[in-house]
Amino acid sequence: MSEVLVLVDHLDGKVRKPTYELLTIAKRLGEPSAVFIGGADKVDDAVAAVKKYGAEKVYVVDDAEIKGYLVAPKAEVLQQIAEKLGDSGPAAILIPSNAEGKEIAGRLAIKLESGLITDAVDVSASEGGEGPVTTQSVFAGSYTVQAKVTKGTPIITVKPNSAAPEESEGKAEQEEFKATISDSAKKAKIVASQPRKASGRPELNEAAIVVSGGRGTGGDFSEVEGLADSLGAAVGASRAAVDSGWIPHAFQIGQTGKVVSPQLYVANGISGAIQHRAGMQTSKTIVAVNKDEEAPIFELVDFGVVGDLHTVLPAATEEINKRKG
Ligand SMILES: Cc1cc2nc3c(=O)[nH]c(=O)nc-3n(C[C@H](O)[C@H](O)[C@H](O)COP(=O)(O)OP(=O)(O)OC[C@H]3O[C@@H](n4cnc5c(N)ncnc54)[C@H](O)[C@@H]3O)c2cc1C
Repeated sequence: MSEVLVLVDHLDGKVRKPTYELLTIAKRLGEPSAVFIGGADKVDDAVAAVKKYGAEKVYVVDDAEIKGYLVAPKAEVLQQIAEKLGDSGPAAILIPSNAEGKEIAGRLAIKLESGLITDAVDVSASEGGEGPVTTQSVFAGSYTVQAKVTKGTPIITVKPNSAAPEESEGKAEQEEFKATISDSAKKAKIVASQPRKASGRPELNEAAIVVSGGRGTGGDFSEVEGLADSLGAAVGASRAAVDSGWIPHAFQIGQTGKVVSPQLYVANGISGAIQHRAGMQTSKTIVAVNKDEEAPIFELVDFGVVGDLHTVLPAATEEINKRKG
């Protein structure tokens, strides 16, 4: 059975859930092989983690030479592992569908002259054994598309929460892989990085008030956060905001996110798609700010403000803070 390479998504050696989802999907397509690019001192924990979810093999790539750089070296690592597997190659390469993963996948597809599919929400083996079939949700969820890579190694980025991780013990045979990183892959360097500060806000599931932002924020959540802080509220988001990489998935409200039922829910720049409603429509009082008076969210609100959130939210925050003071 051919290997299916899975790029391990981890934070300083701590393997993240999307990796387990990818390993679960990889099992449907062939033999899961994890590719861990990280510090030598983190290898044991990472190998133990992926072993539990069926990794038969783990390519361990010491990141000492590349950790100060952005994504280009990782694409070279995957290219070299894929080429080492020879003509039969890997059956597929699965990469988490986040900003970094999609850039790695794009670069890798060019290097391997292979087809690429991004943002799959499901992947299955095709009946004739001719490579994986993916499912994507496009045009804001109004179409579902099935697709297939027709050239080279299928490179697929898979969205988080596309599969329920299934535990199954793999052999997790370790292979140290020494990649040769070119000078051109080292042209963008990380000069500083800081972990995100703890917010001090209430937990989304438990909060009495939730203030959410959607695509209408344009990616700047500071006004949503400002209003949330003035109300002592938790911050939530639509999937469009999460998929755009503006806010982590943990904040997503809806069918494929969290279901909340606070006393007050304030939706800002959110259209009110059915999948979003599924996560908030039982809120006691619903308020929406949207510049489009026809937006479907207004069908279910108690109070609606037709206006630009960049004007409405700072004004509301200022007024609330004034009254509190
Ligand atoms: C299987 C599946 C599961 C899904 N699960 C979820 C889920 O869990 N949660 C979820 O949210 N979605 C989910 N979706 C996606 C959902 O269908 C919508 O695409 C998504 O909710 C849209 O997010 P949005 O309202 O932020 O963006 P849009 O639909 O693009 O709406 C943006 C809104 O912002 C308004 N706006 C723009 N600029 C401003 C401004 N300056 N001031 C005020 N208003 C402004 C616009 O008028 C518009 O109404 C799912 C889809 C599928 C297919």
